[in-house]
Amino acid sequence: MKHYDVIILGAGASGLMCAAQLREKTSLKIALVEGNTKPALKIKASGGGKCNLTNVEVDSSHFLGEELLVSHALSVFSKEALLKYFHDGGLRPVIRKERYYFCPKSSDEVISILMGKSRGCEMLMGHKIQSLEGTSPFIVTTDKAKFSASKVVVATGGASYKELGATDIGLKIAQEYGHTIVPFSPALVGLTLQPKEFWMKELSGVSLRAHIEVAGKTLDEDLLFAHKGISGPVVLSASLYWHRGEIVINFCPNIDLNQLKDEKKLLSTALPLPKRFSKAFLEAIALEDKPCNRLNADERAKLSLIQNYKMAPSGTFGLTKAEVCRGGVSHEEIDPLCMESRHIRGLYFIGETVDVTGELGGYNFQWAFSSAVVCANGILI
Ligand SMILES: Cc1cc2nc3c(=O)[nH]c(=O)nc-3n(C[C@H](O)[C@H](O)[C@H](O)COP(=O)(O)OP(=O)(O)OC[C@H]3O[C@@H](n4cnc5c(N)ncnc54)[C@H](O)[C@@H]3O)c2cc1C
Repeated sequence: MKHYDVIILGAGASGLMCAAQLREKTSLKIALVEGNTKPALKIKASGGGKCNLTNVEVDSSHFLGEELLVSHALSVFSKEALLKYFHDGGLRPVIRKERYYFCPKSSDEVISILMGKSRGCEMLMGHKIQSLEGTSPFIVTTDKAKFSASKVVVATGGASYKELGATDIGLKIAQEYGHTIVPFSPALVGLTLQPKEFWMKELSGVSLRAHIEVAGKTLDEDLLFAHKGISGPVVLSASLYWHRGEIVINFCPNIDLNQLKDEKKLLSTALPLPKRFSKAFLEAIALEDKPCNRLNADERAKLSLIQNYKMAPSGTFGLTKAEVCRGGVSHEEIDPLCMESRHIRGLYFIGETVDVTGELGGYNFQWAFSSAVVCANGILI
């Protein structure tokens, strides 16, 4: 059986970054074990093929998970460090919508930088990991072979988008070694509707800027009506914080409705919103589409619902459509200074396998890369 100093399970975002960091700083014998025949399929698919790497504003408030774990990782490998790292590799990210750093051409740029920097690590591609057993040495069993290693990094990601190779093997391994886990559930995903909101289905394809309040957070981005429910960036981020119960949507965040009180135009014309939406909304709240200056006090109160619309989604679009998974290995049993298991020396968890999930906007790659750098530094101590 072939032995390695370090085996990294999963050649995705966090696994490749961990390999690249180790490669740059040591001559350890390292292998990456990956089920797909190509690495990093999620990076490739991300950001519509242009990978949203990180965000202009990065701090722990944009993540669901243990604050200390996140803030330490971000302090070790910040947004600036990430940008410099890829800049040194030749990538010149562009800022879109004043917040999001994207690849100018293609996600392949990120993959080729990481692959280039991890050259020298053995790439065991097309190996579906079945189990991890033992401790020093650890034994990795795949559908094709067995390998042993002094240290193992679990970087097998979350369980969404199975067609890209995702599995929940990371959580199974964690449980085998006595770790507490929070089961994976879909996040950064569209929300489905209760019958009361079925009027929104008629608006499939319409989008508008909205604020959503959920679990004490107010999120601001575009909302897209879809056939199955509501989606778009603001909904995807809201889904991270939504469990059950109500969210509050402000469909018209940028105006003071009092400004309309002397307006002679019809409501559906005067509201600065797609007309299809305004008409459907007025019908749903049973408010006549009349000139704004003819609204009585009750009608004005009803109209204010457009900025304070409470609804309880019925669920999510599910794991097949979710960009990430909430849940993972519980933080209590991971040392934030090196991402090592507090139970098992030499066993590490990084990226989406850990119970940390970011909002939409590059936060999940930032976490994958930052946690990988912390882990690589920890392995080298
Ligand atoms: C469509 C889509 C678009 C996204 N866009 C963005 C974006 O623009 N910005 C952003 O920040 N985040 C985005 N994300 C989320 C981001 O891709 C993930 O959070 C990130 O890749 C997690 O990194 P990771 O290393 O933990 O897992 P992954 O990158 O998923 O890597 C895990 C690797 O382990 C392998 N693996 C899993 N199980 C096994 C097994 N049993 N045997 C062998 N190998 C296995 C997988 O094939 C995979 O290569 C997107 C996700 C999706 C699905």
